[in-house]
Amino acid sequence: MSTLPESPVEVAFVGRSNVGKSSLINALANRKQLAKVSNTPGRTQLINLFETPSKGTIVDLPGYGYAKVPGRIRAGWEKMIVGYLLEREELEMVFVLVDGEIGPTKLDVQMLEHLRENEVPHTIVATKHDKVKSSKRDTRKRDLAAGCEVAQKDVMWVSASSGVGIDSLRNAVNGILGKAK
Ligand code: GDP
Repeated sequence: MSTLPESPVEVAFVGRSNVGKSSLINALANRKQLAKVSNTPGRTQLINLFETPSKGTIVDLPGYGYAKVPGRIRAGWEKMIVGYLLEREELEMVFVLVDGEIGPTKLDVQMLEHLRENEVPHTIVATKHDKVKSSKRDTRKRDLAAGCEVAQKDVMWVSASSGVGIDSLRNAVNGILGKAK
């Protein structure tokens, strides 16, 4: 990760593969407000960086838990991701994506434990709000927050499909990256 370009301030998005991370970042980008700046080759090829108008950087980390990747390679990625999250000085906030339809997986819970134990600032974002039936939403919100061991108000719910919560999340990201000098 020492090959990452310098940046005044960063936020990172993490989550297991298929959680809806690419769709969410596309929705946040809202037509070219974000410029994709680099794609590191080789082992780190799945790290995408986006520079925002304020010159802060959004770091799109590889999705974890992708079943088709051999265990040894996967372990390497996961070590790299955790190393970045714990050591990157410029990192101000980690947005941890949890699938709103299925709730936190074991890997999500492990990631949250890592971040909590190491006092890395993080915010839980529940994706695919539109996939949860409106009659089930209250229960799902309660269960997801409980599964992540946080209060319901600390979970941001979004949907890349319907647009729910996208403005709030974009404001949160811009608020953090706006600190860039
Ligand atoms: P990634 O692997 O985390 O980058 O996930 P993707 O963004 O590729 O999304 C994985 C799958 O979930 C795709 O089939 C998407 O179309 C779907 N998906 C992503 N976000 C949403 C959402 O907000 N609502 C719905 N209904 N489906 C979504």
